Amino acid sequence: MADPKGFLTTGREVAETRPVAERVRDWNEVYVPGSLLPIISKQAGRCMDCGIPFCHNGCPLGNLIPEWNDYAYREDWSAASERLHATNNFPEFTGRLCPAPCESACVLGINQPAVTIKNVEVSIIDKAWDANDVKPQVPERLSGKTVAVVGSGPAGLAAAQQLTRAGHTVVVYERADRIGGLLRYGIPEFKMEKRHINRRIEQMRAEGTKFRTGVEVGRDITATDLRKRFDAVVVAAGATTARDLPVPGRELKGIHQAMEYLPLANKVVEGDFVASPISAEGKHVVVIGGGDTGADCVGTAHRQGAASVTQLEIMPKPGEERNANQPWPTFPMLYKVTSAHEEGGERVYSVSTTHFEGDEDGNVQYLHLVEVEFVDGKLTQKPGTERKIPAQLVTLAMGFTGTDVQNGLVAQFGVELDERGNIARDAEFATNVDGVYVAGDAGRGQSLIVWAIAEGRSAARGVDRYLTGASSLPAPIRPTDRSLLV
Ligand SMILES: Cc1cc2nc3c(=O)[nH]c(=O)nc-3n(C[C@H](O)[C@H](O)[C@H](O)COP(=O)(O)OP(=O)(O)OC[C@H]3O[C@@H](n4cnc5c(N)ncnc54)[C@H](O)[C@@H]3O)c2cc1C
Ligand code: SF4
Repeated sequence: MADPKGFLTTGREVAETRPVAERVRDWNEVYVPGSLLPIISKQAGRCMDCGIPFCHNGCPLGNLIPEWNDYAYREDWSAASERLHATNNFPEFTGRLCPAPCESACVLGINQPAVTIKNVEVSIIDKAWDANDVKPQVPERLSGKTVAVVGSGPAGLAAAQQLTRAGHTVVVYERADRIGGLLRYGIPEFKMEKRHINRRIEQMRAEGTKFRTGVEVGRDITATDLRKRFDAVVVAAGATTARDLPVPGRELKGIHQAMEYLPLANKVVEGDFVASPISAEGKHVVVIGGGDTGADCVGTAHRQGAASVTQLEIMPKPGEERNANQPWPTFPMLYKVTSAHEEGGERVYSVSTTHFEGDEDGNVQYLHLVEVEFVDGKLTQKPGTERKIPAQLVTLAMGFTGTDVQNGLVAQFGVELDERGNIARDAEFATNVDGVYVAGDAGRGQSLIVWAIAEGRSAARGVDRYLTGASSLPAPIRPTDRSLLV
């Protein structure tokens, strides 16, 4: 155990954020660089090394949290990094982006603020990179087997890294012009700077993984061809079918899916555009959807110089404390103030959009909404509460409905879908098609980065067993669990 009295003597402290006025003028991460280092060992010392570490189960990767907390407390950063990488290929992604269900399951969290696990995680990996301690792990011998991975999001990258290290020759096909999936195009730079992806890709290249960008499987290369050329395939193509809002006026100019809006902002930071073709500059912006994708739109609109930003949510405002049906150690739905919300804007709950109003040129100008409430378990409009708000740019961030069935690869491989519209798989992550596996959002539905990495690792083990009859890759922790906890 790190510090037997740490949880009694030390309060929870988290990474310090830069002042709002400063950070909305740039795209860099919102945290003060280096602010964690002076405090993190003491924070790790708050870990109680519980007999039954519920945090392990809270984390979809089964991260060995008390073990690396102990090393971080003792400032043995190299050992901490080794323990961290034992279960997680990309802790610099999760340490920045994970909603940390481990912290919701932390035993200390029953009656005190939980251990700041996510901050310890990111500090360990950042230190490891700074110390040049993250080295390529080149396989000792090659198996002679080949694997194609379709999609380069966290699931595809994790599967590719595991399979390359197991000695297989792995090629990652990505239809976008850059590697990273939603980590690259979707998640804003202020949540995670893309240099972290680039550094990992370099490591993976040095290990032997090959990358082909700008290649859409199902269009540029058929699934049948891919299956013929490779001994196995992992489909990690994400779940990008966005929910729409079919109300009158939806066709007006200025109404976009969040995933039409956010990647363009990413491309500005990458240097592809001077300004985004869809910009919030000087506009009244309305974001429909109160979740994390919506928050990413809010933060992006602030940085583009929006005149105002309003985020609408149809559900009531969540509570700030756990309620009885979300007891410890489950991951509760609580009211969250993200860094984007700290930066301004208004959040409006229990409202539904009825229609949009445009000007004579067909540009959206107003959004009409009505308040809603639950009556007999059904969301019902409250008469007399209709109003309109200015809206010159509207982004729809209302979630995703499953695998993109327009994606040529689904039909061409002939993979079956499950009842939720995602690619069906068994406990080994195999689809109904021999040698074709699935990992991440494509099989799970839109989820979390930590789940994508966990599934990529698990699918890699399934593929390794398929190719060689056995596998020394780690077993999945919570294989296809759609989760009681997250
Ligand atoms: C805006 C936004 C913000 C998010 N923020 C967070 C967050 O902060 N924390 C968190 O934990 N989760 C977050 N998520 C969810 C998280 O990003 C996803 O769960 C995760 O990226 C899924 O990983 P994946 O590898 O399965 O798929 P993806 O990341 O979607 O990657 C799939 C890749 O496959 C490629 N592809 C698809 N079809 C083909 C084809 N036919 N041929 C070749 N390539 C193809 C796509 O171009 C894409 O690059 C966010 C999601 C969104 C949309
Ligand atoms: S990956 Fe997420 S759940 Fe797992 S230890 Fe890190 S922050 Fe916690």
